[in-house]
Amino acid sequence: NEPLLVVNDLKKYYPVNGGWFKPPSELKALDGISFTLERGETLGLVGESGCGKTTLGRCILRAIEPSGGKIEFLNGRTYMDILKLDTKSLRDLRAQMQMVFQDPYGSLDPRMTVFDIIAEPLTTKSRISGKKLTERVAELMEMVGLEVKFLNRYPHAFSGGQRQRIGIARALATNPELVVCDEAVSALDVSVQAQILNLLKDLQQELGITYLFISHNLSVVRHISDRIAVMYLGRLVELAESDQMFEKPMHPYTEMLLSAIPSPDPDVKRQAAVDGEVPNPANVPPGCAFCDRCKYAIPKCRTERPELRALQNNHLAACHRAEELSLVGAV
Ligand code: SF4
Repeated sequence: NEPLLVVNDLKKYYPVNGGWFKPPSELKALDGISFTLERGETLGLVGESGCGKTTLGRCILRAIEPSGGKIEFLNGRTYMDILKLDTKSLRDLRAQMQMVFQDPYGSLDPRMTVFDIIAEPLTTKSRISGKKLTERVAELMEMVGLEVKFLNRYPHAFSGGQRQRIGIARALATNPELVVCDEAVSALDVSVQAQILNLLKDLQQELGITYLFISHNLSVVRHISDRIAVMYLGRLVELAESDQMFEKPMHPYTEMLLSAIPSPDPDVKRQAAVDGEVPNPANVPPGCAFCDRCKYAIPKCRTERPELRALQNNHLAACHRAEELSLVGAV
């Protein structure tokens, strides 16, 4: 496997005012994230809302400036240390790294035609025009399953699924190596979700794109991901191949998330929902951030932070008790 993106100890801290009686503190939205994205794979990134997954996606594209760490982008002979790029190099990099957003209604400018929306990155980043531009836009529309005759229509004339196809065509316009999909199907009906996920898979096969697929929905992530990373309060707590994660999770938080997925088998009664509340991100417990919600916690969990470590077959987890617990999957 060939790495495309190497993220090392990535941090994003926000200052928090303490008020009258408390000193100022920091909200650690990302607190030392490290992982590698292999070329052509889909890495699913899951966790409850507020865990930092969207911040991570945006920091990788430098839509948000991280507070520290390193992100390396390796494309053939091109090597880029993303956090050190100047504005011009960053613009060039953005042609190779694109984002598909959750809301196909809000992310498309209602005053622009489909042609203008898809053509915009081509005119600004690739500087093509005239007949070539029209041909490329038509090609992109066909690639995502939209009829070219709708070229001059406005976004409001399309359904949610069609609008997401327009968003995907726009993201693919500059032939990116990496596409970050941030809750890309969450706003769509289940049947439309499946169509868009299949489209993303087909495009990956055809074009060799690498996806970072961010979602709070584990079933959706499983459908599309080769590997899955689980985030909790700004940290990665588990990383494994998709099937392994579902069959034999090694972190109690992942077990809890899996237990909340409704089973298609009516005889299988799972826990109805995820237990407990996520702690205040500006006041994370000193040891394991999950200890207040974990039924397996021992005294050590309250004082020592568990590091993400390799356990077996490229399966990583950040739990002091990972080896001794027999956690239940959702297969
Ligand atoms: Fe639970 Fe302790 Fe593991 Fe944290 S380190 S997940 S508290 S058992």
